[in-house]
Amino acid sequence: LFLSFEGGDGAGKTTQQAHLAAWLTESFGREVVRTREPGGTELGRTLRQLVLHGDDVDARTEALLYATDRAHHVASLVRPALGRGAVVITDRYLDSSLAYQAGGRELGLAELRDLQMWAVGGLLPRMTFLLDLDPALLPQRLTGSPDRLERAGAEFHRRTRDAFLALAAAEPQRWRVLDASLPIEELAARIRAEVAPLLAP
Ligand code: C5P
Ligand code: MG
Repeated sequence: LFLSFEGGDGAGKTTQQAHLAAWLTESFGREVVRTREPGGTELGRTLRQLVLHGDDVDARTEALLYATDRAHHVASLVRPALGRGAVVITDRYLDSSLAYQAGGRELGLAELRDLQMWAVGGLLPRMTFLLDLDPALLPQRLTGSPDRLERAGAEFHRRTRDAFLALAAAEPQRWRVLDASLPIEELAARIRAEVAPLLAP
């Protein structure tokens, strides 16, 4: 079972991923692989450093770095884990590239989708949770020093959010849109309710 969390920075993806993983392990004894993009693999951590902290990274270079990270992530970690029956939960997947690089950076959506699908050999999550948050709430929620992208302008973050919502609306059977301003435990319960029916053998 392959699941992804998507949404803007500070929406709580990592927290919900942890809650869901703990529930799957404790209540069902499932092997759970928690991973992330960019940076889910050793090569990916180098790419993450380059894309988030490199100087003078233009939009196409950025898109290719994310796609490279993703291709390696899927080939070396996600597919093998799914192959042995693990539940894989990723904090961001290809929809982030469609929202940030197509939406935020205004690169072409159709071309970027083709690039992502090529990079991952067509592998899509069974379910994708969008933790939707008004970017105006962002400054209160982010902790630590912001990276290059977190410092991008408000318009960029608004376009990205709108792009996530449009992706979700276009593919409602895969996406579940949740209000990320809900209490953590309430969100976790809603997510468990969506995942439970997917666990039947
Ligand atoms: O979620 P995480 O903090 O790991 O994301 C790292 C940064 O990369 C964030 O600032 C996010 O906005 C950005 N990002 C991006 N395009 C992607 C994935 C992440 O701009 N495809
Ligand atoms: Mg972040």
